[in-house]
This record gives sequence, C-alpha cells and structure tokens, in this order.
Amino acid sequence: MKSSQNHHPFLAGLDTFAFDNRFVRELPGDSETANRPRQVTGACYSRVSPIQVKEPKLVAHSPEVGRLLDLPEGAFRHDDFAQVFAGNRLPMGADPYATCYGGHQFGNWAGQLGDGRAINLGEIVNSRGERWALQLKGAGPTPYSRRGDGFAVLRSSVREFLCSEAMHHLGVPTTRALSLVLTGEAVVRDMFYDGRPKAEPGAVVCRVAPSFTRFGNFEIFAARGEIDMLRRLLDYTIRTDFPHLGEPSPAVYLSWFEEVCRRTAQMIVHWMRVGFVHGVMNTDNMSVLGLTIDYGPYGWLEDYNPDWTPNTTDAQGRRYRFGNQPQIALWNLARLASAVYPLTREVEPLEQALELYSESYRQGWEAMMASKLGLERFEPLTDRELVGELLTVLTLAETDMTLFFRALPMVEGDDSSSDDELIAPLGEAYYCPEELTAEKRGRIGRWLKNYLARVHRDGFSVSERRRAMNSVNPKYVLRNYLAQLAIDKAEEGDFSLIETLLDVLRRPYDEQPGRDEFAKKRPEWARHRAGCSMLSCSS
Ligand code: AMP
Ligand code: MG
Repeated sequence: MKSSQNHHPFLAGLDTFAFDNRFVRELPGDSETANRPRQVTGACYSRVSPIQVKEPKLVAHSPEVGRLLDLPEGAFRHDDFAQVFAGNRLPMGADPYATCYGGHQFGNWAGQLGDGRAINLGEIVNSRGERWALQLKGAGPTPYSRRGDGFAVLRSSVREFLCSEAMHHLGVPTTRALSLVLTGEAVVRDMFYDGRPKAEPGAVVCRVAPSFTRFGNFEIFAARGEIDMLRRLLDYTIRTDFPHLGEPSPAVYLSWFEEVCRRTAQMIVHWMRVGFVHGVMNTDNMSVLGLTIDYGPYGWLEDYNPDWTPNTTDAQGRRYRFGNQPQIALWNLARLASAVYPLTREVEPLEQALELYSESYRQGWEAMMASKLGLERFEPLTDRELVGELLTVLTLAETDMTLFFRALPMVEGDDSSSDDELIAPLGEAYYCPEELTAEKRGRIGRWLKNYLARVHRDGFSVSERRRAMNSVNPKYVLRNYLAQLAIDKAEEGDFSLIETLLDVLRRPYDEQPGRDEFAKKRPEWARHRAGCSMLSCSS
C-alpha cells in the first residue's frame, strides 16, 4: 500500500535542490521556442522541456552521486524520484535546456549537432559549494535532434550508467550517473543496421558533472564566425569552471587552452592504464574539463591489442582504436585550438600548447607504466626498453591485459628459474595457452627475468610492491560481456546484476572474496557475440 507521504515531493528532497542555473542566466539563449529540428544561431542553448512518459520506474541509482547533490538518503525510495528523473516532473528551480554544439565526426566537420537527446535540468550548488549540472539523457527531442527521436534504449543506458560510475571508482575523470529509470515507453532501434528495427524499452540516465561543455560548443561558433558568442562562452567557462586562471583576457585564453591540453593528456593516460576504449572520440564527445563523456560503443580491452576498437562503425578505418587514442586526442585539441584562435590571434602559443599535450602525455604515460610495474619511477635509460618489450610480450599470445597486470606481482624467481616457473602465476591471463610455444615462453620468461632484476634494484619488499601495483592495476573492470549479461537480465525485468556490478565496481582494486567470477577473463561464448565484443552506435 502506498502512503500519501510517498507522493509528497518535498519529502523526497528533490525540491530542496539549490538550483543556480548560471549557464542560462549568463549566456544568450535561442529566441525561437519551437521544438523542431532546426539550425540555431546566436545562442548557446534552447529552452526545452522533457517529454512526459508513461510509467517511470527506477532501475538503479548511485547513492554516492546522491550525496554529491545533498540528496537525503531516502530520496530514492520515493515515487517522486523516478517521476523527476524520467523527466515527468520538474524539480522546483529547474530551467531545462539543450545546448548547441558542433563537431568533427570521424575526421570531418559535421556542422551543428547539439544536445539531441540530452536535456539539462540546470546546475545546483551543493553544501560544499560545488557546482553540479544535472542532465537527463533520453528525455525527448530538442531542436538539435536532427533525424533522431531524442530517446535512449535500456541497453545503452545500462552501459552508460554502470561504466561512468565504474570509471569514477577506478580514479578516471568522468561524468557521473545519478540514476537509471525505465520510461515505460517503447523505442524502436535498428540495432544491427540491417533493416530489422525492433521495439526496445526506453530509459533515461541522469548524468551529473560540473559542466558538460565540449570542444564542439566552441567549434560551432568559430565555424559560423560568431566570434562574440565564442568569446562569451569562453569567458563564462573560465569564470565558472576555471576561476583559478583569473579574469578572462587573451593571455588567460591561452592558459585555459594549456590546461585543457594537460587535463586531456591525463584523462587519456588513465584510459590507457585501465584498458578503456572510448570508441567515438569525435570532438563533440570531448569535454573541456578532461572528463570521459558520452558512453556509446565503448569497450574494455580483453586481450591486449592496440588495434582493437569496439565500434563496428569504425571497423574499417579503426580511427578510434585503443592505441590511437593519444593521437586522436591531439588531433581533437588541434580542432579546439583552431576554434579559439580568433580570440587569441597567435598561432605559436597554441602550437606550443599542443606540444605541451604531447609532452604531458608522454611523461604521464611513462610514469603510469612505471606504476603499473611497481617501479619507484620511470628510468628512461632502462625502462624504455623494458616497457617496449613488455608491449610486444603482451601481443605474443592472446593475453588478458587486466589479469596480466594483476598477476604480475605474484611472479617470483631468479636467473635459475625456468620459463614455466616464471610464467605459471600469469596462466589465467592467456586465452589460448596452446599458443605459448617454447619460443614465446622463452621470450616471456626473458622479459620476466629482466623485470624481476629491475624491481630488485628499487629495493621494495614484495608486499610493498604488491600493494602499490594492486592500487593501480584493477582486479575488476566492466568487462564487455558482464555489461551485456546485466542488460540481458534487465530486459527480462531482473535488475539484480546491475546492482551487483555497481557494487563490485565500487572497489575495483580490492580483493573481494566470493566475487572472483567477476574478475574472470571473457568466456568463449562471448568472443563474437554482439554487445560483448562489437557494438554499433545505435543507442
Ligand atoms: P553520439 O554519437 O551519441 O555522441 O551523438 C552524436 C549526435 O547525435 C549528438 O548531437 C546527439 O545528441 C545526437 N543523437 C544521438 N542519438 C540521438 C537520438 N536518438 N535522438 C536525437 N539525437 C541523437
Ligand atoms: Mg555525443
């Protein structure tokens, strides 16, 4: 029986959000109000309301994100919660809008894109003075929907909800997710692009980040020659999200760009550390805060293969393959540099900032690889070769990257150890042990001996090194097949695996007794199954 209290919105705490809505207050909005696909000029956003849906039902939520927003613990249990985060009821103070942005997709300028299926409710300032923007993904059409319907399906929403929280707990800069709500509406998608559209359950994820501003928000104004809008958006961004840089000026625009370069470098280093492949690194999917944003056909490296991409749309050119992500980030930063050039009018400092990206990335990557190996620091003289050979060793046979690094501190031995003794603790990491010929075992064994000699020089105890390595080499990641299993169950109405995975992925570096099944390598049945190893952009 439902109590009347359950329906009291105030008790759910959702009307006590301290909305500030600086974005719409300070930046120019669209003068036209029609919610139909169109070009929007002279504006950073268009006001638009989420669509009413039939039967909102809460599937999952993140209590940690609730705390960021000062939500009372019980807020999730109120019926009002699903209503609000499906978009049926606006919390007091919300002023919903969709932003205008453009972007380079797969290397080509694509013109106006924009929030085609994301509606921002506004920004709140929490009790610690932090600003958090709330965005409903899949809440209906906007002027930026182009040929899309503005909705999202359950499978892609489960993937975004789980992965963004998992990334946060791994220590990777990312947008967050507060909630995952079923709408009770059907959404038709041609998942395999083979002319067989199917009705799927519709869902809405509430994403949370300090800001969702993308490279493309700047590119659109530069492309249209709307330089005043460009300046207004950049001044706003600096004052709101980069206040430590000082009052906007051409010099501060440059420091801002340098900071975007540094943050982007750090983000990519983290992706390379955990084996994350974004899949669609278009400039409209790049956050100026250096956050991982827009979880679409992303994937996790299983066997270490720098050429792997999860995105079937990218299978030909493999532009967004794992090993290419650092170069693509640089290419995208160069597009952002061109976009802000009209405000700085100096090419050289922008070029220097791009070099700064390459240098920060190189340094960050080397330090990260040293930490994965449990080294005190990266010593170029010895470690360039050590790491270079490791990357070859990882490709000799199909080797699970996560399991390999997690097991590496268990390897023991000395010059007299046999290859088999050295390799034994890594056994689980190999998908096809029969691939390990004597020659390959010899090469792996040689590398392990060199590695053990190298760690010996640092003088850490085995347990110290193990602890350090286990804090950067996760045991649990959102393996592609695990997300798919959670989706399969959710589509049958069973949300328990989403809950379990969310909980396992909360402590990715900890041993979690009884949960080893979530740390196992991909089972053979998942090797070629859609959703497990290959994904389309259909979402
Ligand atoms: P994505 O590949 O998801 O980053 O999306 C690229 C662009 O397409 C963005 O402007 C999205 O807002 C838009 N888009 C993607 N899916 C839809 C949809 N179902 N309805 C409307 N717009 C969409
Ligand atoms: Mg996008």
